[in-house]
Amino acid sequence: MEFTLTEEQQMVRDMVREFADEWLAPRAHEMDMERRIPLEHVEKLSELGLIAPVIPEEYDGPGMDYLSYAIISEEVGRVDASTATTIGAHCSLCSSPIMNFGTDEQKQQWLPKLAAGEVIGCFGLTEPMAGSDAAGIQTTAVPDGNGNYIINGAKQWITNGSFADVIVLLASTNPKKGIMGITAFIVPTKTPGFEVGGVEDTMGIRGSQQAVLTFKDMQVPEEWILGGKRGIGRGFTVAMKTLDAGRIGVAAMATGMAQGAMEKAIQFVKEREQFGKAIKDFQGLQWYLADMATSIYAMRNMVYRVACDKDAGKDVATPAAMIKLFCTETAFKVIDQALQLHGGYGYCKEYDIERYYRDIRITRIYEGTNEIQKNIIARDVLKKDPKIWY
Ligand SMILES: Cc1cc2nc3c(=O)[nH]c(=O)nc-3n(C[C@H](O)[C@H](O)[C@H](O)COP(=O)(O)OP(=O)(O)OC[C@H]3O[C@@H](n4cnc5c(N)ncnc54)[C@H](O)[C@@H]3O)c2cc1C
Repeated sequence: MEFTLTEEQQMVRDMVREFADEWLAPRAHEMDMERRIPLEHVEKLSELGLIAPVIPEEYDGPGMDYLSYAIISEEVGRVDASTATTIGAHCSLCSSPIMNFGTDEQKQQWLPKLAAGEVIGCFGLTEPMAGSDAAGIQTTAVPDGNGNYIINGAKQWITNGSFADVIVLLASTNPKKGIMGITAFIVPTKTPGFEVGGVEDTMGIRGSQQAVLTFKDMQVPEEWILGGKRGIGRGFTVAMKTLDAGRIGVAAMATGMAQGAMEKAIQFVKEREQFGKAIKDFQGLQWYLADMATSIYAMRNMVYRVACDKDAGKDVATPAAMIKLFCTETAFKVIDQALQLHGGYGYCKEYDIERYYRDIRITRIYEGTNEIQKNIIARDVLKKDPKIWY
Protein backbone atom coordinates (compact mmCIF):
# COMPACT_ATOMS: atom_id res chain seq x y z
CA MET A 1 0.00 0.00 0.00
CA GLU A 2 1.34 3.42 -0.85
CA PHE A 3 0.31 6.62 0.79
CA THR A 4 -0.83 9.89 -0.58
CA LEU A 5 -0.52 12.51 2.09
CA THR A 6 -3.31 15.05 2.45
CA GLU A 7 -2.50 18.69 1.73
CA GLU A 8 -2.36 19.32 5.48
CA GLN A 9 0.02 16.40 6.10
CA GLN A 10 2.25 17.60 3.27
CA MET A 11 2.30 21.08 4.80
CA VAL A 12 3.30 19.61 8.17
CA ARG A 13 6.05 17.58 6.51
CA ASP A 14 7.39 20.57 4.59
CA MET A 15 7.33 22.80 7.66
CA VAL A 16 9.15 20.25 9.89
CA ARG A 17 11.61 19.40 7.14
CA GLU A 18 12.53 23.05 6.69
CA PHE A 19 12.80 23.58 10.44
CA ALA A 20 14.93 20.43 10.81
CA ASP A 21 17.32 21.41 8.02
CA GLU A 22 17.65 25.06 8.95
CA TRP A 23 17.51 24.97 12.73
CA LEU A 24 18.20 21.47 14.09
CA ALA A 25 20.84 20.21 11.68
CA PRO A 26 23.45 22.94 12.31
CA ARG A 27 23.15 22.44 16.09
CA ALA A 28 22.85 18.65 16.42
CA HIS A 29 26.60 17.92 16.47
CA GLU A 30 27.29 20.49 19.18
CA MET A 31 24.37 19.28 21.34
CA ASP A 32 25.81 15.76 21.15
CA MET A 33 29.38 16.83 21.91
CA GLU A 34 28.44 19.11 24.79
CA ARG A 35 25.66 16.89 26.12
CA ARG A 36 23.37 19.92 26.04
CA ILE A 37 19.66 19.35 26.63
CA PRO A 38 17.89 20.52 23.44
CA LEU A 39 15.72 23.00 25.33
CA GLU A 40 16.07 25.65 22.64
CA HIS A 41 14.86 23.05 20.13
CA VAL A 42 11.92 22.25 22.37
CA GLU A 43 11.10 25.95 22.57
CA LYS A 44 11.18 26.34 18.78
CA LEU A 45 9.09 23.20 18.24
CA SER A 46 6.58 24.54 20.78
CA GLU A 47 6.34 27.82 18.86
CA LEU A 48 5.56 25.83 15.71
CA GLY A 49 2.93 23.79 17.57
CA LEU A 50 4.90 20.59 17.02
CA ILE A 51 5.90 19.62 20.55
CA ALA A 52 2.76 17.58 21.30
CA PRO A 53 0.89 17.59 18.00
CA VAL A 54 -1.74 15.00 18.89
CA ILE A 55 -3.28 17.04 21.74
CA PRO A 56 -6.81 17.95 20.57
CA GLU A 57 -7.89 21.49 19.75
CA GLU A 58 -10.35 21.55 22.66
CA TYR A 59 -7.29 21.50 24.93
CA ASP A 60 -5.50 24.17 22.88
CA GLY A 61 -3.43 21.57 21.01
CA PRO A 62 -2.92 21.35 17.24
CA GLY A 63 -5.21 18.27 17.06
CA MET A 64 -3.10 16.54 14.43
CA ASP A 65 -3.56 12.91 13.47
CA TYR A 66 -1.07 10.14 14.22
CA LEU A 67 0.26 10.08 10.69
CA SER A 68 1.29 13.72 11.09
CA TYR A 69 2.92 12.84 14.40
CA ALA A 70 4.84 10.03 12.68
CA ILE A 71 5.97 12.44 9.97
CA ILE A 72 7.20 14.90 12.61
CA SER A 73 9.14 12.14 14.44
CA GLU A 74 10.60 11.01 11.12
CA GLU A 75 11.69 14.45 9.98
CA VAL A 76 13.17 15.44 13.35
CA GLY A 77 14.86 12.03 13.66
CA ARG A 78 16.35 12.53 10.20
CA VAL A 79 18.65 15.21 11.58
CA ASP A 80 18.67 14.91 15.38
CA ALA A 81 17.67 11.77 17.31
CA SER A 82 18.23 13.50 20.68
CA THR A 83 15.52 16.06 19.98
CA ALA A 84 13.23 13.37 18.55
CA THR A 85 13.67 11.34 21.76
CA THR A 86 13.03 14.38 23.95
CA ILE A 87 9.77 15.23 22.21
CA GLY A 88 8.79 11.54 22.05
CA ALA A 89 8.94 11.31 25.86
CA HIS A 90 7.02 14.59 26.21
CA CYS A 91 4.33 13.80 23.64
CA SER A 92 3.88 10.01 23.40
CA LEU A 93 4.80 9.02 26.92
CA CYS A 94 3.49 11.90 29.05
CA SER A 95 0.86 13.89 27.12
CA SER A 96 -0.85 10.88 25.49
CA PRO A 97 -1.72 8.96 28.68
CA ILE A 98 -3.16 12.16 30.20
CA MET A 99 -5.13 12.67 26.99
CA ASN A 100 -6.34 9.08 26.84
CA PHE A 101 -6.91 8.26 30.49
CA GLY A 102 -7.14 11.57 32.38
CA THR A 103 -10.28 13.03 33.94
CA ASP A 104 -11.72 16.20 32.39
CA GLU A 105 -10.13 18.29 35.14
CA GLN A 106 -6.73 16.65 34.61
CA LYS A 107 -6.93 17.25 30.87
CA GLN A 108 -7.90 20.89 31.41
CA GLN A 109 -5.10 21.34 33.91
CA TRP A 110 -2.26 19.74 31.97
CA LEU A 111 -2.92 19.41 28.23
CA PRO A 112 -2.92 23.11 27.23
CA LYS A 113 0.42 23.60 29.01
CA LEU A 114 1.91 20.44 27.53
CA ALA A 115 0.70 21.47 24.06
CA ALA A 116 2.34 24.87 24.42
CA GLY A 117 5.57 23.40 25.81
CA GLU A 118 5.04 25.54 28.93
CA VAL A 119 5.57 22.39 30.95
CA ILE A 120 7.73 19.48 29.85
CA GLY A 121 6.67 15.93 30.61
CA CYS A 122 8.25 12.57 31.27
CA PHE A 123 7.11 9.01 31.98
CA GLY A 124 8.36 6.89 34.88
CA LEU A 125 7.89 3.17 34.53
CA THR A 126 11.35 1.52 34.50
CA GLU A 127 13.17 0.82 37.77
CA PRO A 128 16.57 -0.62 38.62
CA MET A 129 15.00 -4.06 39.18
CA ALA A 130 12.12 -3.81 36.70
CA GLY A 131 12.87 -3.20 33.01
CA SER A 132 11.27 -5.60 30.53
CA ASP A 133 9.36 -7.11 33.44
CA ALA A 134 7.50 -3.87 34.08
CA ALA A 135 4.96 -5.68 36.24
CA GLY A 136 7.72 -6.10 38.81
CA ILE A 137 7.93 -2.42 39.81
CA GLN A 138 8.67 -1.87 43.48
CA THR A 139 7.75 1.80 43.88
CA THR A 140 4.84 1.92 46.29
CA ALA A 141 2.01 4.40 46.83
CA VAL A 142 0.37 3.79 50.18
CA PRO A 143 -2.87 5.56 51.20
CA ASP A 144 -2.41 7.58 54.42
CA GLY A 145 -6.10 7.57 55.31
CA ASN A 146 -6.37 11.36 54.79
CA GLY A 147 -6.96 11.36 51.04
CA ASN A 148 -3.25 11.22 50.15
CA TYR A 149 -0.83 8.57 48.95
CA ILE A 150 2.75 8.34 50.20
CA ILE A 151 5.12 7.34 47.39
CA ASN A 152 8.50 5.68 47.99
CA GLY A 153 10.84 4.14 45.43
CA ALA A 154 13.13 4.86 42.50
CA LYS A 155 12.95 5.05 38.70
CA GLN A 156 15.76 4.68 36.21
CA TRP A 157 16.43 5.80 32.63
CA ILE A 158 13.70 8.43 32.70
CA THR A 159 14.02 10.55 29.57
CA ASN A 160 13.59 14.28 30.37
CA GLY A 161 13.45 13.28 34.07
CA SER A 162 16.20 15.72 35.08
CA PHE A 163 14.36 18.82 33.84
CA ALA A 164 10.70 17.85 33.34
CA ASP A 165 7.92 19.71 35.16
CA VAL A 166 5.55 16.76 35.38
CA ILE A 167 5.81 12.99 35.41
CA VAL A 168 3.30 10.24 34.69
CA LEU A 169 4.48 7.93 37.43
CA LEU A 170 3.68 4.24 37.86
CA ALA A 171 3.53 2.88 41.39
CA SER A 172 2.00 -0.07 43.15
CA THR A 173 -0.99 0.88 45.29
CA ASN A 174 -1.59 -2.78 46.14
CA PRO A 175 1.46 -5.05 45.74
CA LYS A 176 -0.61 -8.16 46.56
CA LYS A 177 -2.63 -7.65 43.37
CA GLY A 178 0.38 -7.69 41.00
CA ILE A 179 -0.33 -5.84 37.74
CA MET A 180 -3.88 -5.12 38.89
CA GLY A 181 -2.39 -3.21 41.81
CA ILE A 182 -0.40 -0.75 39.68
CA THR A 183 -1.69 2.82 39.45
CA ALA A 184 -0.55 5.83 37.40
CA PHE A 185 -0.21 9.27 39.02
CA ILE A 186 0.33 12.70 37.48
CA VAL A 187 2.96 14.30 39.70
CA PRO A 188 4.51 17.78 39.38
CA THR A 189 8.24 17.32 39.83
CA LYS A 190 8.40 20.15 42.38
CA THR A 191 6.54 17.94 44.87
CA PRO A 192 8.59 17.56 48.08
CA GLY A 193 10.25 14.13 48.17
CA PHE A 194 10.90 14.07 44.39
CA GLU A 195 14.64 14.03 43.69
CA VAL A 196 16.83 13.68 40.64
CA GLY A 197 19.51 11.17 41.62
CA GLY A 198 21.75 11.68 38.58
CA VAL A 199 21.94 11.54 34.81
CA GLU A 200 23.15 8.47 32.89
CA ASP A 201 26.30 8.73 30.75
CA THR A 202 24.94 7.17 27.57
CA MET A 203 26.54 5.99 24.31
CA GLY A 204 24.21 7.94 22.05
CA ILE A 205 21.33 10.43 21.99
CA ARG A 206 23.61 12.47 24.22
CA GLY A 207 21.58 15.64 23.77
CA SER A 208 18.67 13.92 25.48
CA GLN A 209 18.91 13.06 29.16
CA GLN A 210 18.03 9.94 31.13
CA ALA A 211 17.70 10.43 34.87
CA VAL A 212 17.58 8.32 37.99
CA LEU A 213 14.68 9.57 40.09
CA THR A 214 13.96 8.87 43.75
CA PHE A 215 10.81 9.42 45.78
CA LYS A 216 11.06 9.64 49.53
CA ASP A 217 7.82 9.88 51.48
CA MET A 218 6.40 11.93 48.61
CA GLN A 219 2.86 12.90 49.55
CA VAL A 220 0.42 13.18 46.66
CA PRO A 221 -3.32 13.84 46.86
CA GLU A 222 -5.62 11.16 45.44
CA GLU A 223 -6.80 13.72 42.85
CA TRP A 224 -3.45 13.12 41.14
CA ILE A 225 -4.34 9.53 40.30
CA LEU A 226 -4.53 9.44 36.50
CA GLY A 227 -8.21 8.96 35.70
CA GLY A 228 -9.29 9.69 39.27
CA LYS A 229 -10.53 6.89 41.53
CA ARG A 230 -11.38 4.79 38.47
CA GLY A 231 -7.69 4.83 37.67
CA ILE A 232 -6.76 2.82 40.77
CA GLY A 233 -5.30 -0.49 39.57
CA ARG A 234 -5.38 0.59 35.89
CA GLY A 235 -1.77 1.72 35.73
CA PHE A 236 -0.40 -1.32 33.92
CA THR A 237 -3.00 -0.94 31.15
CA VAL A 238 -2.14 2.77 30.93
CA ALA A 239 1.56 1.93 30.60
CA MET A 240 1.12 -0.80 27.97
CA LYS A 241 -1.28 1.22 25.82
CA THR A 242 1.01 4.24 26.06
CA LEU A 243 3.98 2.19 24.88
CA ASP A 244 1.95 0.63 22.02
CA ALA A 245 1.36 4.08 20.53
CA GLY A 246 4.82 5.34 21.44
CA ARG A 247 6.38 2.60 19.32
CA ILE A 248 4.95 4.21 16.17
CA GLY A 249 7.00 7.29 17.05
CA VAL A 250 10.17 5.24 17.61
CA ALA A 251 9.71 3.39 14.30
CA ALA A 252 9.14 6.71 12.51
CA MET A 253 12.21 8.24 14.12
CA ALA A 254 14.35 5.24 13.10
CA THR A 255 13.05 5.60 9.53
CA GLY A 256 14.06 9.26 9.55
CA MET A 257 17.50 8.42 10.93
CA ALA A 258 18.05 5.89 8.15
CA GLN A 259 16.95 8.48 5.60
CA GLY A 260 19.32 11.09 7.09
CA ALA A 261 22.20 8.60 7.03
CA MET A 262 21.52 7.68 3.42
CA GLU A 263 21.44 11.34 2.40
CA LYS A 264 24.83 11.85 4.03
CA ALA A 265 26.22 8.75 2.31
CA ILE A 266 24.98 9.93 -1.10
CA GLN A 267 26.66 13.30 -0.63
CA PHE A 268 29.89 11.63 0.48
CA VAL A 269 30.18 9.13 -2.40
CA LYS A 270 29.65 11.91 -4.91
CA GLU A 271 32.51 13.93 -3.44
CA ARG A 272 35.04 11.29 -2.45
CA GLU A 273 37.42 10.16 -5.18
CA GLN A 274 39.51 6.98 -5.32
CA PHE A 275 41.25 5.28 -8.26
CA GLY A 276 40.79 8.51 -10.24
CA LYS A 277 37.01 8.76 -9.99
CA ALA A 278 34.16 9.51 -7.62
CA ILE A 279 33.44 6.41 -5.54
CA LYS A 280 29.76 6.70 -6.54
CA ASP A 281 30.83 5.21 -9.88
CA PHE A 282 31.71 1.84 -8.32
CA GLN A 283 28.75 -0.42 -8.95
CA GLY A 284 29.24 -2.29 -5.66
CA LEU A 285 28.69 0.97 -3.77
CA GLN A 286 25.68 1.88 -5.92
CA TRP A 287 24.17 -1.44 -4.83
CA TYR A 288 24.61 -0.46 -1.20
CA LEU A 289 22.58 2.67 -1.94
CA ALA A 290 19.94 0.66 -3.78
CA ASP A 291 19.55 -1.63 -0.75
CA MET A 292 19.36 1.34 1.61
CA ALA A 293 16.74 3.18 -0.45
CA THR A 294 14.63 0.02 -0.77
CA SER A 295 14.78 -0.64 2.98
CA ILE A 296 13.76 2.93 3.79
CA TYR A 297 10.87 2.78 1.32
CA ALA A 298 9.58 -0.36 3.06
CA MET A 299 10.04 1.15 6.52
CA ARG A 300 8.22 4.35 5.69
CA ASN A 301 5.29 2.51 4.11
CA MET A 302 4.93 0.27 7.16
CA VAL A 303 5.04 3.19 9.59
CA TYR A 304 2.51 5.25 7.63
CA ARG A 305 0.19 2.26 7.32
CA VAL A 306 0.15 1.63 11.07
CA ALA A 307 -0.26 5.34 11.82
CA CYS A 308 -3.23 5.46 9.42
CA ASP A 309 -4.74 2.37 11.08
CA LYS A 310 -4.38 4.05 14.45
CA ASP A 311 -6.08 7.16 13.09
CA ALA A 312 -8.89 4.90 11.85
CA GLY A 313 -9.36 3.65 15.41
CA LYS A 314 -7.94 0.15 14.87
CA ASP A 315 -6.09 -1.79 17.56
CA VAL A 316 -2.47 -1.42 16.49
CA ALA A 317 -0.70 -3.01 19.46
CA THR A 318 0.85 -5.84 17.43
CA PRO A 319 1.50 -3.88 14.19
CA ALA A 320 3.19 -1.19 16.31
CA ALA A 321 5.45 -3.88 17.80
CA MET A 322 6.14 -5.15 14.25
CA ILE A 323 7.20 -1.75 12.92
CA LYS A 324 9.24 -0.99 16.03
CA LEU A 325 11.09 -4.28 15.52
CA PHE A 326 11.47 -4.03 11.75
CA CYS A 327 12.30 -0.35 11.42
CA THR A 328 14.84 -0.18 14.25
CA GLU A 329 16.68 -3.34 13.11
CA THR A 330 16.61 -2.22 9.47
CA ALA A 331 17.66 1.34 10.27
CA PHE A 332 20.63 -0.04 12.19
CA LYS A 333 21.74 -1.96 9.06
CA VAL A 334 21.16 1.05 6.79
CA ILE A 335 23.19 3.34 9.04
CA ASP A 336 25.95 0.74 9.26
CA GLN A 337 26.06 0.65 5.44
CA ALA A 338 26.09 4.45 5.30
CA LEU A 339 29.05 4.51 7.67
CA GLN A 340 30.83 1.89 5.56
CA LEU A 341 30.44 4.11 2.51
CA HIS A 342 32.28 6.85 4.40
CA GLY A 343 35.31 4.58 4.97
CA GLY A 344 37.59 5.81 7.76
CA TYR A 345 35.93 9.24 7.80
CA GLY A 346 32.73 7.60 9.02
CA TYR A 347 34.57 6.42 12.10
CA CYS A 348 35.45 9.88 13.35
CA LYS A 349 33.33 12.45 15.14
CA GLU A 350 33.96 15.11 12.55
CA TYR A 351 31.39 13.36 10.35
CA ASP A 352 27.74 13.20 11.44
CA ILE A 353 27.42 9.56 10.46
CA GLU A 354 29.39 8.56 13.58
CA ARG A 355 26.64 10.16 15.72
CA TYR A 356 23.89 8.40 13.76
CA TYR A 357 25.65 5.07 14.38
CA ARG A 358 25.69 5.67 18.16
CA ASP A 359 22.20 7.17 18.27
CA ILE A 360 20.38 4.42 16.38
CA ARG A 361 21.47 1.73 18.84
CA ILE A 362 19.04 2.78 21.56
CA THR A 363 16.00 2.33 19.34
CA ARG A 364 16.38 -1.45 19.65
CA ILE A 365 16.22 -1.16 23.45
CA TYR A 366 13.87 1.55 24.67
CA GLU A 367 10.07 1.50 24.68
CA GLY A 368 10.40 -2.27 25.03
CA THR A 369 13.42 -4.17 23.71
CA ASN A 370 13.12 -5.87 20.35
CA GLU A 371 13.05 -9.25 22.08
CA ILE A 372 9.94 -8.07 23.93
CA GLN A 373 8.44 -6.91 20.60
CA LYS A 374 8.99 -10.44 19.27
CA ASN A 375 7.21 -11.86 22.33
CA ILE A 376 4.23 -9.56 21.66
CA ILE A 377 4.09 -10.48 17.97
CA ALA A 378 4.56 -14.23 18.53
CA ARG A 379 1.84 -14.31 21.17
CA ASP A 380 -0.62 -12.77 18.71
CA VAL A 381 0.49 -14.87 15.75
CA LEU A 382 -0.15 -18.05 17.74
CA LYS A 383 -3.47 -16.80 19.11
CA LYS A 384 -5.13 -15.29 16.04
CA ASP A 385 -5.88 -16.22 12.45
CA PRO A 386 -2.57 -15.47 10.65
CA LYS A 387 -4.55 -14.01 7.72
CA ILE A 388 -5.45 -10.92 9.75
CA TRP A 389 -2.01 -9.53 8.90
CA TYR A 390 -2.92 -9.14 5.22
C1 LIG B 1 18.18 5.90 26.64
C2 LIG B 1 17.05 5.26 27.35
C3 LIG B 1 15.84 5.96 27.52
C4 LIG B 1 14.80 5.40 28.26
N1 LIG B 1 13.67 6.15 28.54
C5 LIG B 1 12.74 5.66 29.40
C6 LIG B 1 11.67 6.49 29.89
O1 LIG B 1 11.55 7.66 29.51
N2 LIG B 1 10.81 5.96 30.79
C7 LIG B 1 10.91 4.67 31.24
O2 LIG B 1 10.08 4.26 32.06
N3 LIG B 1 11.91 3.85 30.78
C8 LIG B 1 12.82 4.32 29.90
N4 LIG B 1 13.87 3.52 29.47
C9 LIG B 1 13.94 2.14 29.93
C10 LIG B 1 13.79 1.12 28.80
O3 LIG B 1 12.46 1.06 28.39
C11 LIG B 1 14.34 -0.20 29.34
O4 LIG B 1 15.76 -0.06 29.34
C12 LIG B 1 13.94 -1.39 28.50
O5 LIG B 1 12.57 -1.64 28.64
C13 LIG B 1 14.72 -2.67 28.89
O6 LIG B 1 14.78 -2.85 30.26
P1 LIG B 1 16.19 -3.16 30.94
O7 LIG B 1 17.13 -2.11 30.46
O8 LIG B 1 16.00 -3.29 32.40
O9 LIG B 1 16.67 -4.54 30.33
P2 LIG B 1 16.25 -6.00 30.84
O10 LIG B 1 14.78 -6.10 30.97
O11 LIG B 1 17.07 -6.36 32.02
O12 LIG B 1 16.70 -6.88 29.59
C14 LIG B 1 18.02 -7.37 29.38
C15 LIG B 1 17.98 -8.29 28.15
O13 LIG B 1 17.12 -9.40 28.40
C16 LIG B 1 16.13 -9.47 27.38
N5 LIG B 1 14.88 -9.98 27.95
C17 LIG B 1 14.30 -9.63 29.14
N6 LIG B 1 13.15 -10.31 29.30
C18 LIG B 1 12.98 -11.09 28.21
C19 LIG B 1 11.98 -12.03 27.80
N7 LIG B 1 10.89 -12.26 28.52
N8 LIG B 1 12.14 -12.66 26.60
C20 LIG B 1 13.23 -12.41 25.83
N9 LIG B 1 14.22 -11.53 26.18
C21 LIG B 1 14.08 -10.88 27.35
C22 LIG B 1 15.97 -8.04 26.89
O14 LIG B 1 15.40 -7.99 25.60
C23 LIG B 1 17.43 -7.58 26.92
O15 LIG B 1 18.08 -8.03 25.76
C24 LIG B 1 14.91 4.07 28.74
C25 LIG B 1 16.11 3.36 28.53
C26 LIG B 1 17.17 3.94 27.89
C27 LIG B 1 18.45 3.16 27.78
